[in-house]
Amino acid sequence: MSSAHTPSAHTPSVFQAFTGLSDDETEILNQADRFAQAETYPLARRMDDEEWWPEDIFPKIGETGYFGITAPESLGGAGLDVFTSGLILQALGRWNYALALSWVAHENLCLHNILRNANEAQKAKYVPGLIKGTQIGALGLTEPGAGSDALGSMSTTARREGDHYILNGRKIYITNGPVADVLLVYAKTDKSKGAHGISAFIVEKDFPGFKVAQKLIKMGFRGSQTAELVFDDCRVPAENLVGEENKGVKVVMSGLDLERAMISPICLGMAERALALSVDYAKQRKQFGRPIAEFQMVQSMLADMYTWVESMRLYTYQTLRAANVIGENDGGRGEIHKITAAGVMYVAETLNKVLNHAMQVHGGTGYMWESEINRLYRGIKLLEIGAGTTEVRKMIIAKELLSE
Ligand SMILES: Cc1cc2nc3c(=O)[nH]c(=O)nc-3n(C[C@H](O)[C@H](O)[C@H](O)COP(=O)(O)OP(=O)(O)OC[C@H]3O[C@@H](n4cnc5c(N)ncnc54)[C@H](O)[C@@H]3O)c2cc1C
Repeated sequence: MSSAHTPSAHTPSVFQAFTGLSDDETEILNQADRFAQAETYPLARRMDDEEWWPEDIFPKIGETGYFGITAPESLGGAGLDVFTSGLILQALGRWNYALALSWVAHENLCLHNILRNANEAQKAKYVPGLIKGTQIGALGLTEPGAGSDALGSMSTTARREGDHYILNGRKIYITNGPVADVLLVYAKTDKSKGAHGISAFIVEKDFPGFKVAQKLIKMGFRGSQTAELVFDDCRVPAENLVGEENKGVKVVMSGLDLERAMISPICLGMAERALALSVDYAKQRKQFGRPIAEFQMVQSMLADMYTWVESMRLYTYQTLRAANVIGENDGGRGEIHKITAAGVMYVAETLNKVLNHAMQVHGGTGYMWESEINRLYRGIKLLEIGAGTTEVRKMIIAKELLSE
């Protein structure tokens, strides 16, 4: 790093908050934090600068036991819960938020969805490689013409031909898309039934007719790889249909609630890091002959940030605890639908406020691309767009409130 001020990588005091976690949960978070700082933080800057994908990191995460958190031990998993996977994500969010996004697309959107919805043969085939990190997972729902209206406007089709389904269509903005080996993909098996004609499939990258059309260049989360994918008469064995034909909407909706619950810990980790960096910077940076931390207007920003981070922590953990007990047929409606939408909406919007203050505390240093606070700042917007935009989150909350 050149002229810009470089805050120390480790400012632990701000991470030692009153968390309401049990001793075991605190230990898991602290262990994951140590791993994330030692193994993923050193990769973050190059990942951001070059949109570089470090090929060794997924197998290393797998070896360390940070994949398959919710998978049964019989498949090589840790047999723990969604809440615990949220803690690991929080730690990754602090030290390498782009990797945290890749992790959640792999672990939650792909692997956890397969665990919840696939049959035993499919789990036996795909889950162990995903847990080892030797196979990378992704989920393909969004299409060029189907974003917020992902189900209604979906135009990717799958038609049965003997013992295969033939998929045709495009998926866009797919996290891990350029590097994924195993993708959970949604397609319409019966166009006449709208959202109730959707099915889920496991697609391998080597299936004929599957192609990465382009790697997409982003303003933030740059180290996480994002792609547009093409299915051109892509041949998927019929045994790779997940769940029943035309019942994919259940998989999508419960998956989206879980995804929303799991975006919040990334926001929390990023906000904790932004606060830590800002406290550190305010103590070190001198103007008018004194550290800027002595100026009350700077103190005011730090106090706001601390309060917002703690409110994010409460909401994140509350939402994750709710997601922990989501039943097989739950999701996509009711209390869990409302709280996961509200949780991620609040936490993402509050992260925006935290990072706005963090940038202000850092002055010109924060405006420089090479500073860590700049990297964090460029990440904000995705968290108000992915997994359903703020507007979609509001639509969900209002619909549930008005139907009570
Ligand atoms: C970096 C990144 C990673 C992603 N990863 C994945 C992934 O791994 N897998 C995947 O399937 N998808 C992924 N997505 C897609 C993401 O879920 C969509 O971008 C998101 O759902 C919004 O869709 P859209 O971008 O098409 O926006 P649009 O739906 O076109 O929305 C544009 C604007 O219109 C507003 N709007 C739309 N409809 C309404 C309405 N009815 N009322 C009010 N406002 C409305 C929206 O809120 C938004 O402000 C990713 C996106 C990004 C940017």
